Amino acid sequence: MSRTLDQRLTQELAELAAADLGRLHRLLESPCARVVTVDGRQRINFASNDYLGLAAHPALARALADGALAWGAGSGAAHLVSGHLQPHAALAERLAEFTGFPGVLTFATGYLANLAVTPTLAGRGDAVFADKLNHASLIDAMQLAKANGATTQRYPHADLAALERLLAASPAQTKLIVSDTVFSMDGDLAPLPALHALAERYDAWLVLDDAHGFGVLGPQGRGSLAHFGLPADPRILLMGTLGKAAGVGGAFVAGSALAIDYLRNKARSYIFTTAAPPAVACALSASLDLIAAGDALRANLFARIAQLRDGLAGLPWHLPASPTAIQPLLVGDNAAALALARRLWENGLWVPAIRPPTVPKGTARLRISLSAAHTEADVAALIGALREAAAG
Ligand code: PMP
Repeated sequence: MSRTLDQRLTQELAELAAADLGRLHRLLESPCARVVTVDGRQRINFASNDYLGLAAHPALARALADGALAWGAGSGAAHLVSGHLQPHAALAERLAEFTGFPGVLTFATGYLANLAVTPTLAGRGDAVFADKLNHASLIDAMQLAKANGATTQRYPHADLAALERLLAASPAQTKLIVSDTVFSMDGDLAPLPALHALAERYDAWLVLDDAHGFGVLGPQGRGSLAHFGLPADPRILLMGTLGKAAGVGGAFVAGSALAIDYLRNKARSYIFTTAAPPAVACALSASLDLIAAGDALRANLFARIAQLRDGLAGLPWHLPASPTAIQPLLVGDNAAALALARRLWENGLWVPAIRPPTVPKGTARLRISLSAAHTEADVAALIGALREAAAG
């Protein structure tokens, strides 16, 4: 590395550390589960997105192991070359049935799935309208669409009037409204029925990221659209991730047969990457069974959400309305958020402090992530520790 580049990187890292924005791995010495071992000590895990507690489920580990024995370790190539194996096709078929959309493509990660949609559908002459608080992968997808010649505009979070003004003023041929369904750092729900109505009124596509709704919301965990009773409309493209509630890894994009046919032919992040190992698809098919039969898991998760929100009422930190597993406790200052997280950590509770640029400046927070695996006592311990911290 050149000396000047070396100096620049060293200086930037020092600046990040000085602003309490340095990032380090925390090393787990046990599987991702309700309780994890870190630094030789057990901690209750409020940090993962394993909302149904399936990541360490023996049935999924077994399906993964059996899948590897039957199908090998790797897929060997991209889906369109020779990497599309029967387990991938079976998973896509299951997901189509589960979501109600006729077409499905599967991806190795949600980041890749989001990169497949917006820049493939929107280029020169087209327009993208994106919620300000969309996930980084949707923002990067929007930047790629911009590089392809699309105009891109971000509307204030969930501001339907602002979005409608932008849609009404847009001369674009193809319009895409792009939104998280459950916002990843706030836990609130996008106003999907109203977004859908706007998409119909202005003949726009609706591109939705259901990373945090899939498996959690709606009857049988079918996701945010089902939660709102919205149909699998051909103007919707639905992305869902499979490394959160589904407990394994990967993602899918679902839509009309035509839209999915087009993405399969054109989406660069689908075409130019190796397909996920087939055993992962085997584990995911098993996971869909657990999700569909998981009403008791979801009932426990929602009981824990209600318990936490009741227990944290009246604390000095704002807990914005969130009906989902993601509960954000707004602290504001980076150092204060880190200090609060450290204090909980010392009490055996792992709750991550989330700082800019992941969240807007001045809104550093604890992102409390609840799971169906948590017990009433786990959540009571967290409430107790936060109450104690608030008392000084
Ligand atoms: N979208 C949202 C809203 C997310 O929270 C995440 C993961 N944090 C992703 C997409 C990316 O998914 P993956 O981790 O599978 O790449």
